[in-house]
Amino acid sequence: MADAALGIAGLGFGVIVGLAVTAETHSELVAPGGTATFIGSITGLVGMYLALLMVLLVSRIPPVERVLGLGGLLRWHRWLSPWPLSLIALHAIFTTIGYAEAAKTGVGHEIGSLLNGYPGMVTATVALGLMMAAGIASIRAIRTRLRRESWWTLHLVMYLALALSFSHVIALGPSFVGHPLTQLVWSLVWLATAGTVLAFRFGLPAFRSLRHRLRVVEVRTEADGVVSVICEGRRLDLLPVSGGQFLCWRFLQKGIWWQAHPYSLSARPTPTHLRLTVKNRGDHSGGLAALKPGTRVAIEGPYGSFTSHAQRREHAVLIAGGIGVTAMRALLEDLPRTTRPLVILRVSRDEDAVLEEELAELTRKAGGKLHVIVGPRDKARLNAKRLREMVPMIAEHDVYVCGHDHFVRDMVALVKRLGVPADAIHYEAYSL
Ligand SMILES: Cc1cc2nc3c(=O)[nH]c(=O)nc-3n(C[C@H](O)[C@H](O)[C@H](O)COP(=O)(O)OP(=O)(O)OC[C@H]3O[C@@H](n4cnc5c(N)ncnc54)[C@H](O)[C@@H]3O)c2cc1C
Repeated sequence: MADAALGIAGLGFGVIVGLAVTAETHSELVAPGGTATFIGSITGLVGMYLALLMVLLVSRIPPVERVLGLGGLLRWHRWLSPWPLSLIALHAIFTTIGYAEAAKTGVGHEIGSLLNGYPGMVTATVALGLMMAAGIASIRAIRTRLRRESWWTLHLVMYLALALSFSHVIALGPSFVGHPLTQLVWSLVWLATAGTVLAFRFGLPAFRSLRHRLRVVEVRTEADGVVSVICEGRRLDLLPVSGGQFLCWRFLQKGIWWQAHPYSLSARPTPTHLRLTVKNRGDHSGGLAALKPGTRVAIEGPYGSFTSHAQRREHAVLIAGGIGVTAMRALLEDLPRTTRPLVILRVSRDEDAVLEEELAELTRKAGGKLHVIVGPRDKARLNAKRLREMVPMIAEHDVYVCGHDHFVRDMVALVKRLGVPADAIHYEAYSL
C-alpha cells in the first residue's frame, strides 16, 4: 500500500515537472527575467502539488489510515510540509524578480505592479501570508508552546490559504493559461481532494456520531487520577474497530464540548458499549472525571494501525508504559490464539498499574505471561539485559509498544538494537 501510494505520488510529481518544463519556450527562457520567472513557475507548481499531497496525507482516507495509521500519516505530513511552503515562498520571490527584470524596474516597484495589475494577486498574497503563519506555528519549538486547540485552529487556515491561491494558479500559471484541458484536470484533482477531506474528516465522523448515538453511562475511578468512561450506543457492531485503535472523543458537556481528544479504547467494544480509560494530564483528560451520565458523545475514528492485523510472526511481545496499558489491554483481546503473548507493563508506582487484573486475566487466557515492572526509571530498568532475560528470542517476535512518546521512542530503539526488524515493530505513541 505504502509503495503503491509512493509510486502514484512519484508519477504525479513527474507529470507536474513535465508540465512546467514544456510550458516554457527557449526564447522565453533567454529573455530578460526568463530564468527567474521559470524558476518561479516550476517552484510554484511543484509547491502546490506537494501541498495537495500534504492535504491528502491528513484526509483520513480509511483504507490508507488503517494500513499506515494516523500517527504514521502525520509523521509523513510533518516531514513533507516544509517543502511546499518553501517552494511556494521561492515561487513568490523568483516570480517577482523575473517580472522586475523583464520590466527593467526595481523589485519594490514590481510588487506594486503585480498586486494592482494581475487578477487574483491580492488573494494569492493573503494566501501566502496565511500559509507562512500556519507553517511557522507548526515548527515544533513553537507548536509545543501553543495550546493544542490554538495551534489546531491556526493550522486550519492552511485550507483557506490553498482555496484562495487556487484561482491564481489557474489564471496565471504558464502551464494553465491557454490549456483548458490541463485547467480541467487540475481543477478536478483539487475538487476530488477537497471532497475527500470533507467526506472523511467531517462527513464520516458526523454520520458515525449520529448513527451510534453514544452517551456516557458510567464514569468509574480506576486509580488516583485515572477514570474509565463507559459509553452506550446503538449498533456498535457496525463500527469498524479493532483492539488497539483509538478515537477522537468530543464529550458534549459544558466546558469541554469544543475539544476533541484522542483516547484508545481500553476494551474491545461490544455491540452496545465502548470503554476508554484516561489519566489526568490536563484540562480535558482531567475533566472527564466530572462527566455526567447521559452526556452525548461525538466520535471521530476509529484510527490507528496498532492492531492484530499488523502481526507478522506467530508470537508477540507487548510492552506498555503507564497509561499505554489501555490500547494494549484492548489489543490483547484481539490477538490470534496462537500468539501466546509475553506482556510487559512498566509503571513508576504500584497505583499506576491500572487494569492490571484485567491484563493478567486476558494474558492467562491467551496462554501468555505477564511481567509488571514497578519503580522509578533509574532503578527498575527495562533495558536490553532485562528484556533478553524475559524474551531470549525477541528478534523472532512481533513487538508492540504503547505509551507516551519518550517511552515508545526508547523501547523501539531498544528492540531494534536487539535485532527485531522494523516491519515487526508496531507502536502507538500517545502524542500526535
Ligand atoms: C493515539 C493516542 C491515544 C491515546 N490514548 C490515551 C488513552 O487511552 N488514555 C489516556 O489517558 N491518554 C491517551 N492519550 C493521550 C491523551 O490524548 C492526552 O493525554 C490528552 O489529549 C491530553 O489533553 P489535556 O487537555 O488533558 O491536557 P493538555 O495539557 O492539553 O495536554 C497534555 C499533553 O497531551 C497532548 N495533547 C493535548 N491535546 C491533544 C490532542 N488533541 N491530540 C494529541 N495530543 C494532545 C499535549 O501535546 C500535551 O503533551 C492518547 C493520545 C494519542 C495520540
